[in-house]
Amino acid sequence: MTPPEQSGPDPRVEVLCAGIIVADAIASPVDRPPEPGVVNLVDSVQLATGGCALSTATALSRLGVRTALCGRVGRDLLGRVLLDEASARGLDTEGVLFSAELTSASLVLDRSDGERTFLHNPGASGALTREDVEQSLARAEPRWLHIGGALVMPGLDGDPLAEALSGARERGVITSLDPVHDATGRWDRLHAVLPSLDMICPNLTEARGITGCETAADCAAWLRTRGVGKVAIKLGRDGAYALDDVTAEHVPPFEVRAKDETGAGDAFAAGLIYGLLRDWPLRRAVRLANAVGALSTTAVGATTALPDLDGALEFAG
Ligand code: ADP
Repeated sequence: MTPPEQSGPDPRVEVLCAGIIVADAIASPVDRPPEPGVVNLVDSVQLATGGCALSTATALSRLGVRTALCGRVGRDLLGRVLLDEASARGLDTEGVLFSAELTSASLVLDRSDGERTFLHNPGASGALTREDVEQSLARAEPRWLHIGGALVMPGLDGDPLAEALSGARERGVITSLDPVHDATGRWDRLHAVLPSLDMICPNLTEARGITGCETAADCAAWLRTRGVGKVAIKLGRDGAYALDDVTAEHVPPFEVRAKDETGAGDAFAAGLIYGLLRDWPLRRAVRLANAVGALSTTAVGATTALPDLDGALEFAG
């Protein structure tokens, strides 16, 4: 007998990751920009998934956390590829909607010295709305809502996001956010959101932009005075700084031979959410986040080297 079709929320979903979903086409090596009208040969052109929401959701799924994805893609080839890949990774993709815009995509020019140049079209991800997030929340009924890619989603950033987050909290959902670098410098669009966040995990450049402070400790303290519960400031190869009611300390990094730091911040967010979901103290969760972030850098591609839970716990020691 055919089982009845599933409807309603998936009771197993623990985290809803909402935000940007991006396709990266990476050409390597490109040491000089191509001359107009000329075909330059490269060793490889590879398509990879990117975007904070998709990368953090993927990392959470690798850690064994049932995760739903919410975002927008275009009705184009890249959109179909990203959606298929997200499903293949075990993500609940009911909350991924189609938009009139093209799928968000980057052309990544990879130099032999490791530096990268990006040509980016914000595309469909920018069209995500408060209603999209609220519908996904109502359907998936997660324990945790993570916003990945705040500040490059004009349909959501600012008051609509603040309202979505405070509404989520009223339903008992834990909230977190990871911004991306705002090239326009309008960091203040995050200020309305801060009182509705249980956790925020910017890197130091982003934290400085949001707060106007200089050191990680000052940035974190500023964010706490604005109402954020737990703060983890990502410091790249220097680890992270953690601040909440009981912890105020630098959490040291793990030493790895880093090959590609793309997506390390998204992997870090997943490790942190994993630990906090299990009610670990912030320091222990940030330690796991440092481990997942470090491991993610050990192969080329944002999601290639993501560890599973056993691998991450063993590495974190
Ligand atoms: P983002 O990608 O958001 O800028 P970071 O580059 O700071 O974030 O990386 C996120 C986290 O990944 C860091 O806080 C650290 O824990 C880990 N990480 C990143 N790069 C390295 C590295 N080279 N060695 C060890 N850990 C790293």
